[in-house]
Amino acid sequence: MSEFRKDIVSGDWILVASGSAKRPHFLKEDRRKKTSIKKCPFEDPQKSGNGDALFWRPLPTASGENREKFSSWFVQVVKNKFPILNPHKVCPVTVKNGSEQSFGGVGFHEIVVTRNHARSLGFMTREELKLVLETYRERYRALSSEKCVEYVLIYHNNGLKAGATVGHPHSQIVALPIIPTDVKRSLDGSSRYYEKHKRCVHCTVIKDESRAKKRVIYKNKHFIVICPYASHVSAEIRLFPITHNPRFEDMHEAQYDSFVEAVRVVFAKLNKALHDPDYNFFIHTAPPKSKNYKHYHWHFEILPRTNIWGGVELGTGIEVVRILPENAAKILRAAKV
Ligand SMILES: [Zn+2]
Ligand SMILES: [Zn+2]
Repeated sequence: MSEFRKDIVSGDWILVASGSAKRPHFLKEDRRKKTSIKKCPFEDPQKSGNGDALFWRPLPTASGENREKFSSWFVQVVKNKFPILNPHKVCPVTVKNGSEQSFGGVGFHEIVVTRNHARSLGFMTREELKLVLETYRERYRALSSEKCVEYVLIYHNNGLKAGATVGHPHSQIVALPIIPTDVKRSLDGSSRYYEKHKRCVHCTVIKDESRAKKRVIYKNKHFIVICPYASHVSAEIRLFPITHNPRFEDMHEAQYDSFVEAVRVVFAKLNKALHDPDYNFFIHTAPPKSKNYKHYHWHFEILPRTNIWGGVELGTGIEVVRILPENAAKILRAAKV
């Protein structure tokens, strides 16, 4: 039985066509792009010409003097050698020429590299994961205060199907001179809901999901993880702070350990139940330079790469999801980690 479901924030219609509702068909074989350690550019990012680290933290196991030595790095941030945006001295202005309109692709593009060649986030210890998430926050704060930066996106591509061109685990951060269209739609959607109902749409969803429980994968003191009702892909996962907060970078320190634990558990479940699928994840948070986003509620979004866009998606924009979100949640919830 197929069903159209409306994404309450964006207004998108998603087609859930779960058919025989079998267990998701995630392949067990290794689809990672094989990069040998010898040829890996991230074994020694400096030797590979990535320049000095902009930020780094030592291995949690490093002790004493070694903690001060860069050679004991566990996570480091470098400039992307092939950036999609370039640093700037002046903010871009729109140039019009007949039907053409453009402005400069200025901004920042950084890479967050973790030390181990084969161990992605889902296989890290709590201490290691904490360092990665803290690195995200530090760089987010630094980049969002740069001139002309309107939005900072932290994202991660895991596996070839998710667009990872280097097999070694790494995340990326782009600081953009605009608020991207998809983010703007989500901001506008939550603003409209707030105007109409005088409450946050995400808080409403969190409350409903907590009560119904059928799409909840995991919950702790400060965070809840769900498969959204109108999931855009099979086994889509969203992680929300339970208390309303528009900004990731403003997370209260008392909530931090809960955040690390929620991320750790959910990736471990993804590995166990769905065989470490290719996935993308990113953090959606309110744009840094305006106070007008009180209605927004930051979240962490994981999109397993289960769908390949075909004619229906490209021709209509309707995303077709083959696994009922309730079933995906049930499988992930049951995975013991
Ligand atoms: Zn490597
Ligand atoms: Zn909220």
